[in-house]
Amino acid sequence: MSQEDHSKTWSHAVIDMEWGMKSSITVIGTGRMGSALAGSLLQAGYPTTVWNRTRQKTDPLAKLGAIVAPSIDEAVHASEIVIVNVSDYEATETLLRNDAIGSAMRGKVIVELTSGTPSGAREAAEWYTRRGASYLDGVIMATPDYIGTDAGTILLAGPRAAFDTHGNVFRALGGNVQHVGEEPGRANALDSALLALMWGALFGTLHAIAVCQSEEIELDELARQWSATAPVVDGLVADLIKRTSAGRFVSDNETLSSISIHQGSMQHLMELMRSRKIDGSVIDGYDAIIKRATAAGHLHDDFAALSQFLAVGK
Ligand code: NAP
Repeated sequence: MSQEDHSKTWSHAVIDMEWGMKSSITVIGTGRMGSALAGSLLQAGYPTTVWNRTRQKTDPLAKLGAIVAPSIDEAVHASEIVIVNVSDYEATETLLRNDAIGSAMRGKVIVELTSGTPSGAREAAEWYTRRGASYLDGVIMATPDYIGTDAGTILLAGPRAAFDTHGNVFRALGGNVQHVGEEPGRANALDSALLALMWGALFGTLHAIAVCQSEEIELDELARQWSATAPVVDGLVADLIKRTSAGRFVSDNETLSSISIHQGSMQHLMELMRSRKIDGSVIDGYDAIIKRATAAGHLHDDFAALSQFLAVGK
């Protein structure tokens, strides 16, 4: 883009002349993630309009050739595809779900990439669909630096036809963009599931660090031992999902470890943490699940049997 392009003003004519037939796209919200999304679309040659509450955050995108819409109404009107990436669904609702914007929805594809809950996605899907738009609700399983790269993962839920029609647009955002089903809450549900898995590992790491520090073991040593045992943990996670899916809870000759084996080692960890005055509340939570399973007679079952004891009151 030349220097003159940096000073583009709001004009559909500019879009028509310079970008030809590629779908026009609006990105609402140009924070860290929204800027990365808009930047990738520009890089891929899509005519991109942006709008952000704090206007100066759109300056770097304007320098890359984005049109900066002067108002949110005009931003929505500008494009057939509207990607939203603000901090939460409450912000999206305040910005878009009103009569003025609602009347401009017919025929548009709304792609909500803000993080939220499955019920929030279902409620939004109903609102946009009632006004004649196609609604895709997605989650970004990556940090902004992955956007536009082959490793960028985005999961989208909603009408398959809208996903297929605009596949090229989504591929510009990341090499691993998948449609995970028509039910609009599925992407957010998967997001929460994968984050639960991630936080298990991250908070587990905090406990491991606290144990090592209290026992004066250098963290370099922890790093070495963790990388050696990581494949074992990966194998246990895969096995847990597989056995739960098949309902194979009773220990058999393929069982890798029973609940009782984990329970014994967990008692050692709890004793160490108590003696070193490390906060054991998270581990107490794990122990409570094991106690429920034990009370129901499952102590010697496969570890996967614990999956039946997460429901409160069981
Ligand atoms: P961010 O840099 O803090 O940007 C937040 C954006 O939301 C800004 O554009 C902000 O506008 C806008 N916003 C907030 N409240 C608003 C309101 N009431 N009205 C209008 N605009 C409002 O956050 P981010 O990292 O880009 O994250 C954005 C979304 O992506 C979040 O849902 C996040 O969970 C998701 N996400 C982020 C990452 C990541 O690694 N960053 C990864 C996966 C998913 P102003 O500039 O005016 O404040």
